[in-house]
Amino acid sequence: NLTKRFSKVFKDIRGQSKLSEDNIKEALREVRLALLEADVALPIVKDFVNQVKERALGKEFADTLTPDQAFFGIVNEALIELMGKENSQLNLAATPPATILMAGLQGAGKTTTVGKLSKFIKDQDKKKKILLVSADVYRPAAIEQLKLLAEQVQVDFFPSDVSQKPVEIALAAQDYAKKHFYDILMVDTAGRLAIDEEMMNEIKAIHAAIKPIETLFVVDAMLGQDAVNTAQAFNEALPLTGVILTKMDGDARGGAALSVRQITGKPIKFIGVGEKINGLEPFHPERIASRILGMGDVMTLIEDVQKGIDEEIAKEMAQKLHRGKDFDLNDFKAQIQQMRNMGGFENLLSKMPGELGQISKQIPEGTAEKAMAHVEAIINSMTPKERANPDIIKASRKKRIAAGAGTTVQEVNKMLKQFEQSQQMMKMFSGKNMQKLMRMAKG
Ligand code: GDP
Ligand code: MG
Repeated sequence: NLTKRFSKVFKDIRGQSKLSEDNIKEALREVRLALLEADVALPIVKDFVNQVKERALGKEFADTLTPDQAFFGIVNEALIELMGKENSQLNLAATPPATILMAGLQGAGKTTTVGKLSKFIKDQDKKKKILLVSADVYRPAAIEQLKLLAEQVQVDFFPSDVSQKPVEIALAAQDYAKKHFYDILMVDTAGRLAIDEEMMNEIKAIHAAIKPIETLFVVDAMLGQDAVNTAQAFNEALPLTGVILTKMDGDARGGAALSVRQITGKPIKFIGVGEKINGLEPFHPERIASRILGMGDVMTLIEDVQKGIDEEIAKEMAQKLHRGKDFDLNDFKAQIQQMRNMGGFENLLSKMPGELGQISKQIPEGTAEKAMAHVEAIINSMTPKERANPDIIKASRKKRIAAGAGTTVQEVNKMLKQFEQSQQMMKMFSGKNMQKLMRMAKG
């Protein structure tokens, strides 16, 4: 895979004094192979390799960078540019209803994405009135699927049935949305297992009838080279305004992100990162690049850490630990607060590279957040003296604390046990490790 290949490439360059035609030849060959293996289309691979070569040869890199770091930077930069530099937002600036048309093959994730997108928009602005409609008249289950999603995210659903014509359904929904002052109408469509003319004609007709402001091409990132062919066909049939790359949570090779963007020239607006309703993220090329390069989602992680970290508190804690002083409940509370500022434990975990990032998917949503709020309530009911000296918390104090936090003594015991565990964990962190983390956070 791409990640492994690149790490081999960089291993080979390591130890060389500077980048030259000779020593990057092998590295470039590996990059080329890696991209081909990741199912990036050939012309795009060629372009990319040439770009990297030009940059690498001309480049004078700072003393602080080793050749492999410099090469890594160049590849990373080129990847980001290829994928379209900045995140491109949904365009909803239309006379209401702003109509969004979903296009793509069957199983790409269109219907699921309509649900996710509704949630995404509602999370940003609760007042937005959203209407969903399904023009997938080939499978009754598809219409039902969208109806259930609408209920789940609490947006309205415009009923349709298999006896109707897709264009008529879309027009009727748009008419209804206009009359009832909806801000947004999302039109879900049918897909086929392969590109076929009838399907293309149908979606072209829907497009012509409703004139959507966004025509989003939904494509499965796991498709690899086929993603390219599909993208090309849809791009020729419809004036696409953006792409949504789904199933990026699987072991998609990332190649699809590279080539779909290049083939269509249209921005990737979102990526699907799970089956759940919140499994949608705005597309950030720099993040995908680092994912492709095997750095996990380190950039996002660092951003989150930077946002949340209170430098003074962290420094103080590091010093305390360095001096071997005990980590107390005040520190525990401060940690919870920082974790929350960073977007929560699950969020941080999900962005860790490799295995660690996978773990987050097994935790039911909101579990950690709830647990943290609970712990915080208990700590809030303690006196400053108790927080600084948890050892003095005996039976009568526990009773008082439990009453104050509206919970039971058992829960207080459980929380104190958790605290002890994290106290032990914190002891394992040396001051040095903490400082390293701080440096990373500052970039
Ligand atoms: P449609 O035929 O294009 O409407 O595709 P669906 O929305 O019905 O999705 C097909 C399958 O892909 C369903 O099982 C979805 O749960 C799944 N799916 C969609 N998006 C994602 C994603 O981002 N990640 C994962 N893991 N599964 C997805
Ligand atoms: Mg569907």
